[in-house]
Amino acid sequence: MINFDYIRVSTPTAAVDALAKDKAAQWIAGGTNLIDLMKKGVLNPQKLVDINNLPLKEIRKEGKVLRIGALALNSDVSEHELVLQSQPLLAQALKAGASQQIRNMATVGGNMMQRTRCPYFYNPDMPCNKREPGTGCGALKGFNRMHAIFGTSDKCIAVHPSDMCIALVALDATVLVAGPKGERRIPFQNFHRLPGELPQRDNTLERGELILGLEIPDNPFADHVHYLKVRDRSSYAFALVSVAAALALKGKTIQDVRLGMGGVAHKPWRLVEAESFLKGKQATEAVFREAANLAMRGAKGYGQNNFKLKLGPNTIVEALKKATEKA
Ligand code: SF4
Repeated sequence: MINFDYIRVSTPTAAVDALAKDKAAQWIAGGTNLIDLMKKGVLNPQKLVDINNLPLKEIRKEGKVLRIGALALNSDVSEHELVLQSQPLLAQALKAGASQQIRNMATVGGNMMQRTRCPYFYNPDMPCNKREPGTGCGALKGFNRMHAIFGTSDKCIAVHPSDMCIALVALDATVLVAGPKGERRIPFQNFHRLPGELPQRDNTLERGELILGLEIPDNPFADHVHYLKVRDRSSYAFALVSVAAALALKGKTIQDVRLGMGGVAHKPWRLVEAESFLKGKQATEAVFREAANLAMRGAKGYGQNNFKLKLGPNTIVEALKKATEKA
């Protein structure tokens, strides 16, 4: 563990100013990922700016939008009445993540900012373009069982580790941020990015931009949702593959549908083609299978993770079946 300075701020403006003034500073909230990264020598911030006192913990309805502050705890969001009633897919995804103890510490903003769990990234003795650009990607021809099958590059094949974010991409959330140039809104789909030539960048935030919160618009998906996470053990494990499925049904006819997929890409993966295919069709296993096959177009395995090419479509079908069954 390194030595570092520590300060605490109480307004978003002070938080943004603190980072603008000091290039070696970094914000800390729940710290459930950052402290691990510091202990392992992956990150070495010289100053930690504690943002836990910022007034960004609200969970409230504003017109047709659910607003969730960046510092709302994962456990509070997953158990909040408004979330359970109007966005149950989000509650399910949150409860599938980490452990109760971690959910009690981790914030919504921190969940979005967490780094990949690629083992090469966490070991400073190994090559990793994300940790140290230009050193190569150890996973490409190495241990890649947990790695991506969509949107990869020859620089990085890591996956985004969050469960919460898979539901948020399906629910068309918007991210509200503040930075040195003012505030802006980012569609959730555009918040995380693919590795391309710059695998060191996980998202589209500019240096010094602070997440203020999220907005999730009302939707017709309160009755038929399911977050299905396939993992090596039944709790406290990252997804091999996960699917967030939401359906609006009239009888057996699919009026509207959203599908997000986790454990398969550097960003939460939205299954847009499968969604278009499913709209207006009957909710049957055969139709779900066709949609799943469409969703898997372009998927590519790297050896140890080839099993995801089969597990992926099976998980999509199962998640849609489970969402359909719910009354
Ligand atoms: Fe690093 Fe990405 Fe390669 Fe993992 S997959 S070793 S994070 S560059």
